[in-house]
Amino acid sequence: MQSKAFYSLPNQHIYIDFHTHSMWNGDDTIEVVSVHGHQQKQCHYYTLGFHPWWTLAPLEPTELSLLLNKYQHDERCIGLGEFGLDNLKGPALDIQEKILIQQLNIANQVAAPVVIHCVRAFDRLLRLRKSQGNSVWAIHGFVRNKILASQVLDAGMYISVAPADKMTPVFIEMLKYVPLDKVFLETDSDFSMNIKDRYAIFASLKNLKVEALQEIIFQNFSTFYKNKWKYHLG
Ligand SMILES: [Zn+2]
Repeated sequence: MQSKAFYSLPNQHIYIDFHTHSMWNGDDTIEVVSVHGHQQKQCHYYTLGFHPWWTLAPLEPTELSLLLNKYQHDERCIGLGEFGLDNLKGPALDIQEKILIQQLNIANQVAAPVVIHCVRAFDRLLRLRKSQGNSVWAIHGFVRNKILASQVLDAGMYISVAPADKMTPVFIEMLKYVPLDKVFLETDSDFSMNIKDRYAIFASLKNLKVEALQEIIFQNFSTFYKNKWKYHLG
């Protein structure tokens, strides 16, 4: 299903949910739905990848060509992911790494922006970023501290975060630190708080008006997805 609103009316003063697993926020929000493999989901825009929780063996050629074909031929498929490494769930990390590299190879072929899932495997991820990272990456659901954030940013990646009611001091410190031109906001389908309220919390931490934050995130989004997102501003 395509969105009338977003195909006809680009507007910087909208909310962008950088990473969700289903649409839920309504008309003044761009929601980028994360699709796993052959799943069918309702969306305006999506990223496609094989998630480490549900991918137990190296990918077949048909699965890899699915990624390539959708990115190349479906205008709603604006990037690849989420895929990555999870030290708490899924198969052994060595297998996860193989599967991740398979998908990064596809991303590198077509310079596709990539949404990364990473839990307790940042050493490996930073190493892979150096050896395999030829397109732009964002780490979604980043909850770690300022020092790790600075390593991720130094490696040229973006960070996507989900500010909420209750946050640890370490998380707040990281949110205050992360540069505005390298950040996205997301819900990751955590229905306890919508994307608008998360914008409001983040804007106040950054001493910004929500409208100013919307313009900044819109610009980041346009830069990150510039290959396929139609309404980038330059
Ligand atoms: Zn997710």
